[in-house]
Amino acid sequence: MSNVCTDPASLPCRKHDPDLWFADDPTRLAFAQQLCGDCPVRAQCLAGALARREPCGVWGGQLVDRGRIIRKRSRSRQRNADRERQPAAAEVAGPEARPTGSDAAA
Ligand code: SF4
Repeated sequence: MSNVCTDPASLPCRKHDPDLWFADDPTRLAFAQQLCGDCPVRAQCLAGALARREPCGVWGGQLVDRGRIIRKRSRSRQRNADRERQPAAAEVAGPEARPTGSDAAA
């Protein structure tokens, strides 16, 4: 492993919104991967992420999930992220749409 002296403040993930590297949106993740392409510590970053078994995110230009490089986020993880973003039906329809009495038990 080469020894690269780099000002941490100059790294792409320090100069841009750090949420990009952990985004739910595949387009934002792809943009983070693209930004990593110019990073002088890309190899060390990826090696460190794999050694630490990082749970998720873009590291060294790769998408990492539970300590492994993956091509894209799993559908179940994407569905969970989508579900979290979607407001519950009762929130959209208002309080009159919430189940009451026997409806709630069904
Ligand atoms: S390779 Fe690592 S240090 Fe470099 S921008 Fe990407 S996440 Fe940041």
